Amino acid sequence: MDAEKILERIENAKLKAGRNDKVFFAAVSKTRTVEEMKEAEKISWVDFFGENRVQEAESKRKAYGQSRLMWRLIGHLQANKARKAIEIFDTIDSVDSVELAVRLNRIAGEMNKSVPVLIEVNTSGEASKSGVDPEKFGELLDTVTGLENLRLDGLMTVGPITDSEREIRSAFAALRTLNDDARVRTGLPLPVLSMGMSGDFDLAILEGSTLVRIGTLLFGERDYRNEP
Ligand SMILES: *Cc1c(COP(=O)(O)O)cnc(C)c1O
Repeated sequence: MDAEKILERIENAKLKAGRNDKVFFAAVSKTRTVEEMKEAEKISWVDFFGENRVQEAESKRKAYGQSRLMWRLIGHLQANKARKAIEIFDTIDSVDSVELAVRLNRIAGEMNKSVPVLIEVNTSGEASKSGVDPEKFGELLDTVTGLENLRLDGLMTVGPITDSEREIRSAFAALRTLNDDARVRTGLPLPVLSMGMSGDFDLAILEGSTLVRIGTLLFGERDYRNEP
């Protein structure tokens, strides 16, 4: 699909939702080459790169050189890669446990950095999905907002794997509700609601997404044999 069609669908979904705020766009560049990423960077409305593996992002970021785009970590982060992740990424969107948050905060402090983060929530209940369980969200929220070197910007989720629009929308609506409640609880603006991928971004925008993460529709099908 060409990029203009994606933009058109984003605009249509916003129209349908009666929205005129901005929906940010992360080009999910896992498995893609630096050359493919440079092409994506030329698209004026692409705001971020999204990568899900620290090692892959490290080698690509070195090879890439200067970029106008910020790089977001959108995949699960293992504790032993926390330091590397803070070095490489501009934001860490997959904070999903108290232990990880505490560790990131400690390392950020040692590095004299303030790290922008999202909390990832498992809104679908699928065991294969990362993200904190909704029941444990409150505790993680209180932890993260109490840590001086992390700056919480909002929430992220991955929609359920199903053909049911109703189920997908209800997962996204659940994230929006958690974010609304978190705003009240913390007094923070929490502007980022990261939800929606190639298969479900229209529905995510209808439910209030402010950041869609799109790989396949932009770059074509992924070939994991190309993974560096
Ligand atoms: C791979 C990935 C995406 C992009 O998926 P596509 O279906 O290729 O658009 C978005 N978010 C996360 C967390 C991912 O791992």
